[in-house]
Amino acid sequence: MQTAVSLGIFGGTFDPVHIGHLRGAEEVAELLGIERVLFVPTGFARHKDLASLASPEDRLTMLELAVASNPRFGVLRYEIEHPEHASYTYYTLRHLHETVLSSGQKPFLILGEDAFAGFPKWHRFQEMLEMCHIAVMARPPIGLPSIPAALKGLESQAVSSEVLHVRLQSGNDLYECRITPLDISSSRVRERLLAGRSVRYLVPEEAFRFIQERGLYRKPTEKPKQKEAE
Ligand code: ATP
Repeated sequence: MQTAVSLGIFGGTFDPVHIGHLRGAEEVAELLGIERVLFVPTGFARHKDLASLASPEDRLTMLELAVASNPRFGVLRYEIEHPEHASYTYYTLRHLHETVLSSGQKPFLILGEDAFAGFPKWHRFQEMLEMCHIAVMARPPIGLPSIPAALKGLESQAVSSEVLHVRLQSGNDLYECRITPLDISSSRVRERLLAGRSVRYLVPEEAFRFIQERGLYRKPTEKPKQKEAE
């Protein structure tokens, strides 16, 4: 089914989803008039601290629980269901163009400024610049996003005190969005859990309950005991 609704694509590991993700997507959607935001969990975790990461299924479940109450939000399982694409965003965009986007429609690729700084190294990023607009969220502690030289366009202008617009050489738009700064990261959430500390109100309540029930991100010795077979 094709859609004319303006679409935002927000990829991440979401290991686990936290309030910074949800609030950031909500604010960017509001600032840019994006009607639907699809969260796209990666098929695998890119982290090196493999001590206590959640499985792709658990990351997906936490995300689905967390966005369920927001009619603007949804979850796209594509990268989890297509490990052959190694979670390259290029293939996700191509899939959306082939399935739901109407001809000529460009979705907004939403990303935090730390992810954006590495964007020119992404697989087939030049082609991606033709396929989507980009919305960058400022993220503490760095401040406002700075545009990698490879993406610099010709004109830039402040749309408001919260949004700066840059016309890219591809003809598509880049928006830098100043959002409520929330200095929260999944790695810090995991570190706190590993240390036996509370993460309540850093992650959405639904994810918090799920983490507790499953004993996620804790030392193996502290995980809740499985029910013995009867
Ligand atoms: P980790 O600490 O494990 O690296 P993370 O908190 O950066 O995780 P990701 O799932 O890797 O979370 O991030 C998904 C996207 O969300 C990225 O584009 C990232 O820049 C953005 N993001 C994450 N947290 C915030 C935040 N607090 N404010 C703004 N953007 C954020």
